Amino acid sequence: MGTVADVAPIKDTKGSLVNKKPTVVFVLGGPGSGKGTQCSNIIEHFGYTHLSAGDLLRAEIKSGSENGTMIQNMIKEGKIVPSEVTIKLLQRAMEKSGNDKFLIDGFPRNEENRAAFEAVTGIEPSVVLFFDCLEEEMERRLLSRNEGRVDDNIETIRKRFKVFLESSIPVIRYYESKGKVRKIDATRPVKEVFESVKAIFAPKSKQVH
Ligand code: UDP
Ligand code: MG
Repeated sequence: MGTVADVAPIKDTKGSLVNKKPTVVFVLGGPGSGKGTQCSNIIEHFGYTHLSAGDLLRAEIKSGSENGTMIQNMIKEGKIVPSEVTIKLLQRAMEKSGNDKFLIDGFPRNEENRAAFEAVTGIEPSVVLFFDCLEEEMERRLLSRNEGRVDDNIETIRKRFKVFLESSIPVIRYYESKGKVRKIDATRPVKEVFESVKAIFAPKSKQVH
């Protein structure tokens, strides 16, 4: 199985990057599949900056921006915020970070998000992680975590599952057709899942089979 290092930007003979575009890994999976938790683990070990699209949108609400009310309403309904809003927040966060390696978590959520991101930034992901988790397990996790989120109630959770199946799975299928998806069984405990994740990020020489 290919690792992230296999598809990282190419370097010329002097070691400078031929392709100066940042390395992006999209982290996808249903609500409660463990994207955020695993991203925190990944950044500790592999030098990436973690950008959660959901967290950026929630920060935008808190900042009192003019889009805040619209974003809040969409999140409460489990709907997907217009691409231009999310992409602008992601671009800003990428610039601010000063890094050139990003884990983008919870985005793109539909085909329109995906196409718009690629068109606006010119960036294609190196790899797409797909945290594949049983719905009943995701539901259990969302209902037992207590982060005060307006969308962690059973009514909104059901809507988020539906949006995931109808809109986000097609994005995963698209990247599957390009050979970029690394599917991880995310129904297991956090530590076990991270063992699988590590194998994807570790350089080939350090991979244990
Ligand atoms: N959201 C969105 N676009 C994004 C990411 C998130 O519209 O690119 C909204 C959407 O309403 C989603 C909510 O933010 O249901 C929470 O997203 P997050 O990724 O934080 O949570 P998840 O549903 O993956 O647990
Ligand atoms: Mg999250």
